[in-house]
Amino acid sequence: MSGQSDRYAVIVGAGLSGSLMALYLARRGWRVDVYERRGDPRLASAEGRSINLGLSARGMRALAAVGLLDAVLARSVPMRGRYIHTGGPELAYQPYGTRAGEVLYSILRADLNRLLIDHAEAHPAVRFTFGQGLTALEPEKGIAYFQGGATVHAPLIIGADGANSAVRGQLEQHGLTTTSITVPDWGYKELTIPPADDGSARTPLEGLHVWPGGGHGLMVAHPNVENSFTATLFLPERELSRLDTREAVAGFLAAYYPDTLALMPDGVDEWLRHPVGHLITVRTRPWHHKGVVLIGDAAHAVYPFYGQGMNSSFEDCLVLDQCLTRHAADLPRALAEYERLRKRHTDVLAELSERNFVELRDKLRSPWFRLRKQVDLVLHRLLGPVWLPLYTMVSHRAVPYATARLRARLQELTLLTLLGLAVIALPLLLLR
Ligand code: FAD
Repeated sequence: MSGQSDRYAVIVGAGLSGSLMALYLARRGWRVDVYERRGDPRLASAEGRSINLGLSARGMRALAAVGLLDAVLARSVPMRGRYIHTGGPELAYQPYGTRAGEVLYSILRADLNRLLIDHAEAHPAVRFTFGQGLTALEPEKGIAYFQGGATVHAPLIIGADGANSAVRGQLEQHGLTTTSITVPDWGYKELTIPPADDGSARTPLEGLHVWPGGGHGLMVAHPNVENSFTATLFLPERELSRLDTREAVAGFLAAYYPDTLALMPDGVDEWLRHPVGHLITVRTRPWHHKGVVLIGDAAHAVYPFYGQGMNSSFEDCLVLDQCLTRHAADLPRALAEYERLRKRHTDVLAELSERNFVELRDKLRSPWFRLRKQVDLVLHRLLGPVWLPLYTMVSHRAVPYATARLRARLQELTLLTLLGLAVIALPLLLLR
């Protein structure tokens, strides 16, 4: 057994939130051991799943606080808005914001993970152990057991082990937390839009590309630094399972995503080769017990449609670090405050993410929906910070999610009231 001092933490999971949290803690003088179930991602071959992530304001703020933002931005592509593909050659463009800085950044998850591990490991107080997953936990005693036989005692144990968290599972097994998991009957396939033969991008690079799918799924594509795109096609499971031959896939893409055939010369083969990914929403309560606490997807996995899973996970690190600093001598209080400050907001994020799925899938083509978005942007342009579209508050500011939703509802009510008054006043004015 090892690691008895007060400022010693064990982090389970060397993914995005675990690696960033290690760096936060080390900078505050903690000694940190990170245990990761998989092998070292820096040594693995380049093959494997290639999810891209959209980094937005709150994620950037959390990276900037440990001096990593510039390094991350250097490996990412700015996305200034959405390009909507509706079948024909014309793309509809919707800017993300009204100001130059209102931009998201696309980065490969694997690249970002390697960068975070590199920086955390460079700190002398951080040690990574790969290939050793958590197997059991005694939350009352603060003892964690890992594959390979390591048994570690630590005052602080952080579960950063993703949506299917073993730490959360152990807390549940001990009757200390309850979890509800929503798995929609939708899955996804990852596909690639490679660069053109001359190395240029086949479609405008600096944006998120969206194919609303017309009742047959939804596809999005994030740009990569070398002028390729990683596309993700979301579909109901029953439709995914039917698409299991070359003819079926080619016919499906030609019918519902016609321009992708030219954009993805290897699309059909990739489809048949790549596994189906699954979506999950996790709601769990409480997030902590004594010195054990959950962060990131382990506490609150959400659908990826608002692009906030990683961003909110990074924000967890920032807030947990602040709580540990405020209550340096009282760990249970720090963890309780962290949960109080975060949980109600990530619960709202789960709802927003589910709602954004419906928006992207069903509403993006609707002229009314687009007009409504335009009205929001025009009002924001005219009124500045007095009128902030929900998307702006969530992605370009770090307004807490529940506050952002409340404010958006109030703005909606104001707009409807003004419209109602206009409808009543107009005939009266015309009659005068
Ligand atoms: P993870 O990144 O999943 O890391 C968990 C780590 O724990 C892994 O390394 C895993 O191997 C390890 N682990 C698991 N079990 C154990 C164990 N027993 N012992 C030790 N280690 C263990 N978010 C955004 O902000 N923007 C986006 O645009 C976006 N797009 C997405 C698109 C898709 C298709 C998907 C699926 C997700 C997307 N996300 C996005 C969400 C984002 O990927 C997650 O929110 C983020 O990865 C969460 O980080 P994490 O560190 O909590 O979990």
